[in-house]
Amino acid sequence: MEIKIQLTDCPKQKTKDSELGFGKVFTDHMFTMDWDKENGWHDAQIIPFGDISLSPACNVFHYSQETFEGLKAYRTPDGHIQLFRPEENFKRLNNSNKRLAMPEVDIDFCIEALKKLVEIDQEWVPYSEGHSLYVRPFCIATEPNLGAHNTSMVKFLIILSPVGAYYASGLNPVNIYVEPRYVRAVRGGTGFAKTGGNYAASMLAQEEAAAQGFSQVLWLDGVEQKYIEEVGAMNVFFVLGDEVVTPELRGSILPGITRKSVIEILKHWGYKVSERRITVDELMEAYKEGKFTEMFGSGTAAVISPVGLLRYKDYDMTLSDGKIGELSQKLYDALTAIQWGKAEDPFGWTVKVC
Ligand SMILES: *Cc1c(COP(=O)(O)O)cnc(C)c1O
Repeated sequence: MEIKIQLTDCPKQKTKDSELGFGKVFTDHMFTMDWDKENGWHDAQIIPFGDISLSPACNVFHYSQETFEGLKAYRTPDGHIQLFRPEENFKRLNNSNKRLAMPEVDIDFCIEALKKLVEIDQEWVPYSEGHSLYVRPFCIATEPNLGAHNTSMVKFLIILSPVGAYYASGLNPVNIYVEPRYVRAVRGGTGFAKTGGNYAASMLAQEEAAAQGFSQVLWLDGVEQKYIEEVGAMNVFFVLGDEVVTPELRGSILPGITRKSVIEILKHWGYKVSERRITVDELMEAYKEGKFTEMFGSGTAAVISPVGLLRYKDYDMTLSDGKIGELSQKLYDALTAIQWGKAEDPFGWTVKVC
């Protein structure tokens, strides 16, 4: 399929890197393509970034038929721009689309479209240390029909947003609280899919945690509420003695690409990594025995997020003296060096754009 390109007549003024924050500023262009039952995917185009017009009856507004992805483009010291494991994101988008009963996309075509888009908007990739261009591909069901049946029309878009360094003043430990009441997902549901509905269902718990001074909630499984699942938009890892543990993927957890990369790096370094079920009780026991020493989250936005305090009901676990754990720092340094092209990429994870 050919991509029609229409460049903007009025490029926007760029925001200063120091004022970027996350996800509020958008570049000059976006990619869109449409799908319907008769024609499949068609009308691939790169057009000026702007509002889109949709019928208020579109399925997505009423029944949340939506999927999304998140990845980044980085500016390297030798003046190139690169992506981190984009193929993994489009593979995951297809898994999400299958679950949400939407059509799959052609992975190679989407990577080419993304490269073209980033190349056109390359001046929007920030130059400052720790800054990057966040990439948000997403699919929405666009058939104007209130009938609660599967959609016959889908729109796929990619929008780009220059973002600041997640940790403006260096890596910082966060406080997390184990959510005792609400659940995020259950096996057989949509937990493994990156879809807006999972987030809508978690906003209230997030708000209540924030009111108590916690930055995120740690979700327990939706059936017995005793097995650890993940944090809001991050997977989690625990250092227990000489074992690094992360909850195994059983259908209710989002299979993070950062999670996968952390596991691969740790194995490469010779660590003992286990993907297994782990209960909050096991964590508390290990903490009492002095074996649970470090915890961190993994996700595209923050890369590695060290946890300084974990609370379950009335029990507080202080980790790494409330500071950045040794392994968290080591992983953060290794991953960010590969992503920003400051170190060799022995795994072949980066893809050059231009
Ligand atoms: C996106 C996301 C993650 C992290 O995935 P990465 O591919 O590492 O960015 C973890 N949990 C949830 C719920 C997510 O939506």
